[in-house]
Amino acid sequence: MNIRNKAKETINLFKQLPKHHQTGLAVASAFICGLLLFPSESVEASRHSDVSMLTPGVRHALDIEISPSSEIIDFEDTSQWKTFTVRSGDTLAKVFSRAGLSARDVYNVTQLGDVAKPLIALRPGDEIAFLTGEDNAFDELRYKLSSTDTLIVRASGVNGALEAAIDTRDIDIRHNFAQGEIDSSFWNAATKAGLTSNQIMNLAGIFGWDIDFAMEIREGDTFNVVFEEQYIEGEFVGYGDIVAAEFVNQNETFQAVLHEDGNYYTPEGRSMRKSFLRAPINFKYVSSNFTKARFHPVQKRWKAHRGTDYVAAVGTPVMAAGDGKVIKSGYDRFNGHHVFVQHGETYTTKYLHFKSRAVRVGETVRQGQTIGYLGSTGMVTGAHLHYEFLVDGVHRNPRTVELPNPLPIAEEERAAFMAIAEVRVAQLNNNKRIMLAMR
Ligand SMILES: [Zn+2]
Repeated sequence: MNIRNKAKETINLFKQLPKHHQTGLAVASAFICGLLLFPSESVEASRHSDVSMLTPGVRHALDIEISPSSEIIDFEDTSQWKTFTVRSGDTLAKVFSRAGLSARDVYNVTQLGDVAKPLIALRPGDEIAFLTGEDNAFDELRYKLSSTDTLIVRASGVNGALEAAIDTRDIDIRHNFAQGEIDSSFWNAATKAGLTSNQIMNLAGIFGWDIDFAMEIREGDTFNVVFEEQYIEGEFVGYGDIVAAEFVNQNETFQAVLHEDGNYYTPEGRSMRKSFLRAPINFKYVSSNFTKARFHPVQKRWKAHRGTDYVAAVGTPVMAAGDGKVIKSGYDRFNGHHVFVQHGETYTTKYLHFKSRAVRVGETVRQGQTIGYLGSTGMVTGAHLHYEFLVDGVHRNPRTVELPNPLPIAEEERAAFMAIAEVRVAQLNNNKRIMLAMR
């Protein structure tokens, strides 16, 4: 279920009603909105980790002015609106006092329950707009929670009892693109292409089962990305998902398209997610070995000692490359602290020289789970992770070994996905044409 769309429906429902009904509905929807927007913050966060600016229910300081205008109600007279900025050490009572409002008004607001909770923990720099009536009586306040959400507290006509609701504005999604060629490092090229650090991490995540971003990026590798930008009333408010991407690594082309289920698939409909991550360590931690790698191809080093060495700071988390069971977690003077993981009948991965281990023998681990922290224990000249990949007990190069086929997209999803994929691949190709023309 898309939480944001649900909230949108609620607001649209508002608009269809005569105005004097809208306030009443605001109260009812306050609780619905509350439930929809704050079910548990992890719900949206897990899928839209890059949309940090727009996660419903999470407050962010934004330089967008509070506007007294609203989708819900039109004000004929806005002259009584006053805006106050929250100062360091402010409480709701202090801000209300500056606005000339009473302690009773403060008390009433604190009785509104969860919907009005953001007002209890005000953040310096936030703005609160007040509308007051005769004798400075409290009529309404507006407190912007995020670029989409504004908390509205309003005195009802009947006996001045307060009602709280959250007004959510629609987000327009537009597509933009970026591409680049790597000449020093992936990070540098991606930054130069205009991608944010979040987008760079997400891009590496999309291809993390195919490409070892720590060791196998080469000069001349290229990337091409189509991503969402989010606008509210014409104003840019943040980035959305990467919807399509292409990465050419050592002349091998990988493409990925985002489906409505939040997962990435190849344009042919095979999952990007596979049994093994290419690297058991996040590339951002690994010392820039790009130049070194050109002179000492991984292939050769791999042959020399049947594993891959990742040089990074002591304490860097190391992940299980795939789901499995810990068959060894121990210490000896050669391997230092080390962990072996068995994946099904066929595969074993080994991780050596940890500073400390995070799993015990017999434990079940998930792909991406931290199993230890990089160190320099055992026979080493410096801190690094030594990683081995074994098939039926034989050391193999994880880059060239044949791995289980990734799962195809569910049959009932296939037609819908193929329609999306066609559009996305056309966008990727179109971007290449545009960039060529601009050269
Ligand atoms: Zn090694």
